Amino acid sequence: MPGLSRRRFIQLTGAAGCLSFFGCSGAERKPSKARVLIIGGGYGGATAAKYIKLFDRAIDVTLIEPSKPYFSCSGSNEVIAGLHELAWLGRSQDPLAATYGVHLVRAKVAAIDPSRRRAQLEQGLRLDYDRLIMAPGIDFRWDALAGYDEKASEIAPHAWKAGPQTLLLRQQLEAMPDGGVVMITAPANPYRCPPGPYERASLIAYYLKRQKPRSKILIIDAKAQFSKQALFEQGWKDLYPGMIEWISPADSGSIEEVIAEARTVLTEFDEYHADVLNVIPPQKAGLLAERTGLTDKSGWCPVDPRSFASTLLPNIHVIGDACIATPMPKSAFAANSQAKVCAAAIVAVLNGRQPGAPSLLNNCYSFLEPNYAISITGVYEVSGRSKQIVATSAGETPMHADRRREADYARAWQKNIEADVFR
Ligand SMILES: Cc1cc2nc3c(=O)[nH]c(=O)nc-3n(C[C@H](O)[C@H](O)[C@H](O)COP(=O)(O)OP(=O)(O)OC[C@H]3O[C@@H](n4cnc5c(N)ncnc54)[C@H](O)[C@@H]3O)c2cc1C
Repeated sequence: MPGLSRRRFIQLTGAAGCLSFFGCSGAERKPSKARVLIIGGGYGGATAAKYIKLFDRAIDVTLIEPSKPYFSCSGSNEVIAGLHELAWLGRSQDPLAATYGVHLVRAKVAAIDPSRRRAQLEQGLRLDYDRLIMAPGIDFRWDALAGYDEKASEIAPHAWKAGPQTLLLRQQLEAMPDGGVVMITAPANPYRCPPGPYERASLIAYYLKRQKPRSKILIIDAKAQFSKQALFEQGWKDLYPGMIEWISPADSGSIEEVIAEARTVLTEFDEYHADVLNVIPPQKAGLLAERTGLTDKSGWCPVDPRSFASTLLPNIHVIGDACIATPMPKSAFAANSQAKVCAAAIVAVLNGRQPGAPSLLNNCYSFLEPNYAISITGVYEVSGRSKQIVATSAGETPMHADRRREADYARAWQKNIEADVFR
């Protein structure tokens, strides 16, 4: 076990008994059952781990995730608005070990060697696999927006990965004087959670309307249109008249520079100043996917949507935000649906069967206030001819629909997905 004591390894895996299940570097033993390694214990990875075990308990499944707890991004706009504490977002993968026999490894993967089918942890331990599922979520393109890098995000938080950044944005809103300006910059597609910036603006408005009613919210967008736009704009008119201003690229031109210390955004035509600046930067697949060679020039991972197998490297599947699954959005619901398709396909192949023809789903709820929500739904299949994902039906909350009932559905969805993924 290079670079790692036996004691440290046992700490990482949480149980000495796990040792016999891993194909550690240097081990002579041949594995007696198929080994699936899953990197990332978020919505995609945790679902895949659970469902492989549900479909075939004999398969050896190891889930690697460094964060304990994992903080869910879904719901994080409610924390920013002060409706819940950060701890409300915390999720644990421990029940997957206790209930389904998934091996949990609390560590970060440093590198993958696809030719040897081996993952190397940051602590030095190596784990072999027959199939690897990569579910690392997103990383930021720190070089894409002049003036905005990781250091700048400590002043102008992105809060697009839940945790300390969520708290920082919340604290800045609390410290802002009444009459202040909150500015949100929204990136071009594709990015994690297309309606997320607009839900965030709405819930911040909900907080400001009660605590600092003279304040204003500006959204500087890199896109000419956004998800559920008509529904959001109707809601803003009804709930927060005059409080939220959306600025499209046609109005301001594209963003040229962010000056975090001055909380200023320079666009082609204008200069905008804020008291609280929330920059949601351009994104790409999680760094490990990129370093492994799973991304194409778009920065995301191309896959065969029948199994989510990488089209670039063998024996590796990519699910969740990191993969290209257009027209599905990058959402927790989509990651959960893709994980089930991927799990079923891997179980089929490992048992000598052909994977079936998948159906995929997405439904994204957005809160505009606690008793007012809207949603967008898509049902998808893989086209026999092009092998691409196509939407077979799609829809949004009708304009006349009951928003309070949508909010009840949204809360029920949050509970249900948490149970489906993490318990
Ligand atoms: C503000 C906001 C609101 C949202 N609201 C919703 C919503 O209402 N509904 C919805 O469906 N979606 C929502 N989303 C989107 C949703 O959170 C993501 O689409 C979802 O988390 C994607 O799941 P994933 O498994 O691909 O990635 P993640 O959930 O990010 O999980 C990836 C995991 O991989 C781990 N990882 C990364 N690199 C390594 C490595 N090298 N080694 C080991 N582990 C690693 C990370 O620690 C992380 O835990 C929202 C997102 C945001 C930002």
